[in-house]
Amino acid sequence: MIHLTKEQHYRDTWAEVNLDAIRHNVRAVRACVGPDIMIMAVVKANAYGHGASPVVKAAIEAGANYLGVATLDEAIALRRAGIELPILVLGYVSGEYAIVAARQRIVLTVVGLQHAKELVAKFPRGQMIDLHVHLKLDTGMGRLGVRTADELAMEVEAISAHPSIYIDGAFTHFAQADSAEKTYTMQQLQQASELFYALRNTMHLNTAESLILHAANSAAILQFPESYLNMVRLGISLYGVYPSSEVNRDRITLRQTLTMYTRIAYCKVLPPGTSVSYGRTFITKQTMKVATLPVGYADGYHRSLSNRGYAVVRGVKCPIVGMICMDQTMIDVSQVDGVEAGEVVTIYDEQTLPELADLAQTIPYELLCSISPRVPRRYVEDD
Ligand SMILES: *Cc1c(COP(=O)(O)O)cnc(C)c1O
Repeated sequence: MIHLTKEQHYRDTWAEVNLDAIRHNVRAVRACVGPDIMIMAVVKANAYGHGASPVVKAAIEAGANYLGVATLDEAIALRRAGIELPILVLGYVSGEYAIVAARQRIVLTVVGLQHAKELVAKFPRGQMIDLHVHLKLDTGMGRLGVRTADELAMEVEAISAHPSIYIDGAFTHFAQADSAEKTYTMQQLQQASELFYALRNTMHLNTAESLILHAANSAAILQFPESYLNMVRLGISLYGVYPSSEVNRDRITLRQTLTMYTRIAYCKVLPPGTSVSYGRTFITKQTMKVATLPVGYADGYHRSLSNRGYAVVRGVKCPIVGMICMDQTMIDVSQVDGVEAGEVVTIYDEQTLPELADLAQTIPYELLCSISPRVPRRYVEDD
C-alpha cells in the first residue's frame, strides 16, 4: 500500500480508502456502459463516508463525466476544492439559493410545478447569469418529481417564461432496481420513456437538440442496460459495494474501497458471572478474554450491533459483547490465542460489511455514510 494522506492523526481507529479501487470501479462501469454514455459519480454524504474530494479526483481520473450530490452545500464544497466538472444537486434546493447555484455553475433539480414557479419567481432576470436545471420525473418512487405529461407541460411552460433558466435534462429514480423481481423497474422505465417523449414534444426539440436523460442507479447499471439512456448515476457501486444480495454480479466485478480498522486498547480475562458495559446486558457464562476497542457509536459504529455484531481479529469473528458505548466497544477474543493490546481489528471490510449491515437491520449504505468525521480517513493506492 502507498499511503497518500499527509495530514497527521493521533488515533487508533481509522478508515482506509483505496483510491485505486475507486478508479477500478469507474473503469469497470465504463467497460460495461460503453464510451458514449456519461457516468455521474454520486458523491453525496461526503462520498458515502469516504471523503468527497479525494474520491471525486480519483473518479474523474478514471473517466467520470458528471457529479451528483444531495445538497447545494455539498456542491459548493466541491467547487471550493477546485472541481470543475458539472455538478447536479439531486435533491430540493430552495429558490432562495438559486442565484448561488448559478454563480457556481451548479445544476439544480426541479422537483415539481410549485418548485418551478418558485425558481422562476426568485431567480433574478437580466443579470447575464444562467441557471441550468434537470426536471425530476416520478415514475414510481413516490418521492420527488412530476407524475404526468400534463404536469410536466405546465412545469416546462413555467420555466420557459424565464429568459435565463435552461432545461438541460430530465431524470427519474428506480424504487426496486436491486431486486430479482424486475417487473416494477420495467414499468418505471416505460413510464419514463413516455414522459421523456412528452417532454421533447413540449419543448419542440428535434432529435439533434440534446437533453441529458438519465435513470439508472448502481442497481440498474448492474441489471438494466436498457435504462442507461444518456447517463448513469453511479453511487454505492463507485465504492465497490453491490446494492443488494439479489443483484446480478456477473456483468461488473467491483472492488470495495473502504476498510475500517481499530487497534485493541486493553485486554482482560473475566471470570464467569461478570457483566460487560452499560445496562449489564451481557454477563459472562464462562471465563472470557475481553478486548476493549477505542471505537463507538460516535464514530458511526451502529449501536444496534450491540450483542449481535462482531469484529474480526486475525480472520476470526469476535462477537461484540454488551452495549456499544459512545467511544468504546468490547469484543470476546477468547477464540484467538495470545491477543494483546495494540492488535489490529477489522471493523468493516469487503467480506463483512453486508452481513454486519444485515445484523444491524440496515444496509451497507447506512453503515458507510455513518462513519463520522472523528474517524480519520487514510487514502492509499495499490503498490
Ligand atoms: C443516491 C442516489 C443515486 C445513487 O444510488 P446508488 O444506489 O447508490 O447507486 C442515484 N440517483 C439518485 C437520485 C440518488 O439520490
